[in-house]
Amino acid sequence: MKSKTFLLPFLLVFVLLSSCQTGSNKKVNDWAIALHGGAGAMIPANYTDEQVQKYEAELKNALAIGEDILKNGGSSLDAVEKVVNYLEDCPLFNAGRGAVFTNDGKNELDAAIMFGKDLTAGAVAGVGDIKNPISAARMVMENSPHVLMVGKGASLFASQNGAEIVDSSYFYTEESYRTLQRALERDRKMGTVGCVALDTEGNLSAATSTGGMTNKRYGRVGDVPIIGAGTYANNSTCAISATGHGEYFIRYTVAHDISALMEYKGFSLDKAADDVVQRKLVDVGGEGGIIAVDKWGNVHLSFNSLGMFRAFATSSGEGCVAIFQ
Ligand code: ASP
Repeated sequence: MKSKTFLLPFLLVFVLLSSCQTGSNKKVNDWAIALHGGAGAMIPANYTDEQVQKYEAELKNALAIGEDILKNGGSSLDAVEKVVNYLEDCPLFNAGRGAVFTNDGKNELDAAIMFGKDLTAGAVAGVGDIKNPISAARMVMENSPHVLMVGKGASLFASQNGAEIVDSSYFYTEESYRTLQRALERDRKMGTVGCVALDTEGNLSAATSTGGMTNKRYGRVGDVPIIGAGTYANNSTCAISATGHGEYFIRYTVAHDISALMEYKGFSLDKAADDVVQRKLVDVGGEGGIIAVDKWGNVHLSFNSLGMFRAFATSSGEGCVAIFQ
């Protein structure tokens, strides 16, 4: 009895550590899902208990939407789109409502979605009036011969395809505007959102949506809508959604690099992701992280920043919701 009590704290630490990711090279889960709400300099001292609870509750709500779809045999594509829609509508995050401001006080949103079964993809960049950019990205993927559409052309295409168009004031939140003011003195609102999923048919999907970097120059496009940089899915390897300093993720083609290490070098998901995020990006000062699910249903969440809003769930019952390191 005494020895059991003595072992309990160690057992708990082991369960907590191992419950934040999974790892194997054979099928471990019929379905799996992971999401992020941005990475950056998150430390407990900067958040009240109430704020932490609020973020965790929203991450849980979003995760539940995806879990529900996948448990009931729905597609990974629907799961990632609906999860990202929820996070886009939540003003806490830097996507959709609550998106950060450009240097000249506007919102320019980027989003991309990719289906690993046939490598189809769609993306929009620099849009300022589409309520849910990730759904517009899916329209580009499914209803056009193109992959990436920008600005007014993207908005026109999305509205013709039934996307909800809003006045630019819809994206405004006091918090994001204040972050712009602070950013003029070097701050950055975290909160890009993303989701990756494996469904029971074995299809992988990835989706990412963002307002970009606070205080960016108007016309700047980040990694999120660049397929292979911030978003990538391939049924033969994995699905990745990234968050962080986009310029580095573009130059190091982070999402595709992880997939390529698996495909050409036979790396496991965790080894491939950590090699890119914890080594290559760290060496050059590229701050951020990724969420990933592979074809076996393993989940890996890797970040080199102080924190990342994140959550995952699998068919075998593993899961976690976390913010800090
Ligand atoms: N990666 C995004 C961008 O560079 C920003 C972020 O994830 O925080 O646009």
